[in-house]
Amino acid sequence: MSTRNVLVINCGSSSIKFALVGESRADFPLHGLAERLGSADAILRWQHDNQRHEQAIAGSDHRAALAALLPLVEQAADGSLHGIGHRVVHGGEHFTAAGLIGADTLAAIRATTPLAPLHNPANLLGIEAAMAVFPELPQVAVFDTAFHQTLPAHAYRYALPEALYRDHGVRRYGFHGTSHRYVSHRAADMAGLATGDSSWLCAHLGNGASTCAIVNGQSQDTSMGLTPLEGLVMGTRSGDVDPNLHGHLARTLGWSLDKIDAMLNKESGLLALSGGLSNDMRSLEQARDQGHAGATLAIEVFCYRLAKSLAAMSCALPRLDGLIFTGGIGENSALIRSKTVASLGLLGLVIDHEANAACVRGQSGAIHAAGHPRILVVPTNEERQIALDTLALLDPVL
Ligand code: AMP
Repeated sequence: MSTRNVLVINCGSSSIKFALVGESRADFPLHGLAERLGSADAILRWQHDNQRHEQAIAGSDHRAALAALLPLVEQAADGSLHGIGHRVVHGGEHFTAAGLIGADTLAAIRATTPLAPLHNPANLLGIEAAMAVFPELPQVAVFDTAFHQTLPAHAYRYALPEALYRDHGVRRYGFHGTSHRYVSHRAADMAGLATGDSSWLCAHLGNGASTCAIVNGQSQDTSMGLTPLEGLVMGTRSGDVDPNLHGHLARTLGWSLDKIDAMLNKESGLLALSGGLSNDMRSLEQARDQGHAGATLAIEVFCYRLAKSLAAMSCALPRLDGLIFTGGIGENSALIRSKTVASLGLLGLVIDHEANAACVRGQSGAIHAAGHPRILVVPTNEERQIALDTLALLDPVL
C-alpha cells in the first residue's frame, strides 16, 4: 500500500518553507526553503533524500516558486500527494482547530488580519498560490492559536475595558499551539499516560519562546498574548515590559509607535541584554564560557524569567505530571534547562545532570532525578503535526 504524503507549507512575506511529510516515514523525503521571493536574488533550496540542491528563480513570486517546486514534489511523493497543510499564524476566536480551506475559511483568515498584520497576509498569499498550482488537492489551514482556544476567560481576558475585547478582539490568544500540542502528546506517550488524563508544563524555547499549561490535552494558559511579544525573553523580543513603557518613551524621547514596536520586537531580548552580541543562544553560551558579562546577564535573565513563567503556569494545573522542554534551545541546551530548573525547587523539580547532558541534537528523554517529578526533553515537529491534522481532515468520518 502506498504511503500518504502531505506537503506542509509555511509562508512568510518573501519566503516559503516547505516539507513533504510521509505518513509512515520519520524523516522528510523533501524539504527546503524558497527565499528572497519577488527579488532578482530569489532562490529555491531543497534537500531530497539527503542531497542538497539549489536553483535560482530570479523574480519569482510565491506562485512561481511553488510552480518550480511542483515537479520536485511530484517526484519525491512518487505520485502519492494527498493534500497540502498550511501553517497559519492567527485564527482569532474563529478557529478552534485546523480547517479545510474553502471560501469561508479564506474570508475568516482575512478577517483576522488586524490581529496579525504581517503574518496572516503572507499565509494567505501562500494558500492562494498553492490553490492555483495544486488545484486538485485539498488544502488545510492549521493555526498557531487554535490549541489555546480552550483557555478559560480568567486566563485569556486582560483587565481592560470590555469594549476592547467585545468589539476589537483584544484578548490573550497564545501562539506555538501546534508545537505545544505535538510535544504534550509525545510526552504522554513517553510517560505511559493517556493524553486525556495528564497535566504538563511546557516550555517551547526557540527564537520565539512561550510556556504553556496543558491539562488533559487542552491548553489552560500560555505566556504569549494578543501578539507573540508577550511573556518570555526571546531572541530579539523583549517579552513582558511595563505597559507604561510606550507612553514613557513617547513622552521622554519622542519615539513613534513604529519605532517602539521595532525596538521591542527586533532590537530587544537576548540581543539587547548581551549588549548587542547575539540573539543566538549557542553563541551566547560560548561567550559566557569566555567570561562575557553581557552574555552571562542575558542567560541569567532568560532562565529566571522562564522559571518565573513556569511557576505562574503551575497555577493552572491540578497536579504536575511533568515539565517538557522543546524548541532549538529546549532540545539542545543542557545549561538553560539546568539553570531554569534550579529556580523551580518549590515545584519539587530536580535535574539529573548526566541525563540532561545526553539529551541534545534530537535525542529525547527523561532528565529528572529519581523520585522527583518528570522533566522530559521532547523534540518538536510542527510539520508532522500539521501533516497529521491535514490527513485527519481528509479521512472520511468512520
Ligand atoms: P528554533 O527557533 O527552534 O530553531 O531555535 C533557535 C535557537 O536554538 C537559537 O537561539 C539557537 O542558538 C538555539 N540552539 C540551537 N542549538 C543549540 C545548542 N546546541 N545550544 C544552545 N542553543 C542552541
